[in-house]
Amino acid sequence: MESLQELYRIGRGPSSSHTMGPSFAAERFRKAHPQADSFQAVLYGSLAKTGRGHLTDVAIQEAFAPLPAGVIFNTQQADLKHPNTMDLEAFRDGESLGKWRVYSVGGGKIEIEGRPSENPQDVYPLSTFDAIKAYCRENGLRLWEYAKACEGPALWDYLREVWGAMLASIRHGLGTEGTLRGGLDVQRKATLLHRQHPAGENPETRENRLVCAYAFAVSEENAGGGVIVTAPTCGACGVLPAVMRYHQERYGFSDEEIVRALATAGVVGDLIKTNASISGAECGCQAEIGSACSMAAAGLSELFGMDLEQTEYAAEVAMEHHLGLTCDPIAGLVQIPCIERNAVAAMRAINAVSLANFLTDTRKISFDMVVRTMYETGRDLFSKYRETSEGGLAKTYRE
Ligand code: SF4
Repeated sequence: MESLQELYRIGRGPSSSHTMGPSFAAERFRKAHPQADSFQAVLYGSLAKTGRGHLTDVAIQEAFAPLPAGVIFNTQQADLKHPNTMDLEAFRDGESLGKWRVYSVGGGKIEIEGRPSENPQDVYPLSTFDAIKAYCRENGLRLWEYAKACEGPALWDYLREVWGAMLASIRHGLGTEGTLRGGLDVQRKATLLHRQHPAGENPETRENRLVCAYAFAVSEENAGGGVIVTAPTCGACGVLPAVMRYHQERYGFSDEEIVRALATAGVVGDLIKTNASISGAECGCQAEIGSACSMAAAGLSELFGMDLEQTEYAAEVAMEHHLGLTCDPIAGLVQIPCIERNAVAAMRAINAVSLANFLTDTRKISFDMVVRTMYETGRDLFSKYRETSEGGLAKTYRE
């Protein structure tokens, strides 16, 4: 498994696979062709079908700026090796200087066809929850200690930065009102949720309202192209920060304790990324929101000092009840159902941890099992339910 620095990326939304990945690819391509005077990008698959709504063209053009870059949306070509495929071509005086086929494989990561994978080194020797659990038990480690042992102290500085960026996105989201761009006329609602104090509000309702307000704040920032942290993706970036911030506020957990929880959540997200997928285009929303919920449940169980079995149960439950969840963003925008879905998943993560308090000993399903199931289910989903906006809510809304 790779470093958690590859999982938590700080950058601009609204989509790790549709804006961060293509933008990163365009920057690399531009640097590799310093003599070019113009560029062209052809987008295929999900990038072509939802790229406009996800601002893929804007991200690519900004990465090539000030040089001009044409962006073509090829929605016809099927039979692609990866659903997020793009061709980049550089020109000088109209003559082609070179071409890359690039895959945006999720979480902001890219692969270039025909080149040895530049994937970062694996820093975790073990890659199943079962194996990590056995190792931790043998050595008396918690999951965050395992992460620290594998990655070294540099991880801690990075996670502190991640936590700072998460808090900033909540703060900024709570302070911003208005309508999100894209044409759906979606109002930003984080401030509204945060400010409301209905008379006689009970503690449970207050908890739901605040957790949702924080999740809305981050997700609206993402939808508006603001800076967020992929956790594990842009579309699902609101779940983990909402759960962490609410519990820090309510119970006074220190930043250091939150950073440990982020490490624990990161190990869970990394396991899903390694053994299945965190890409909505590859496996539907279960891979994005399901993974985020699982990470948040694991992080919260760390804050509450729960043991390894309970953490596994909480993370498993959080994923299990997202199995089959489709990705069908209306108009290709990361707004409906995405923003609200982050809030619902944040509450579900808290529920999963509550269940883990009582039912861990009775469980039949392991975390590794549910991750494998998520991947197989995702591969079985029709492409219209995998970030193409051709089915589900996106289709019904259009009709
Ligand atoms: S529906 Fe889920 S997977 Fe699809 S764009 Fe929205 S948050 Fe991402």
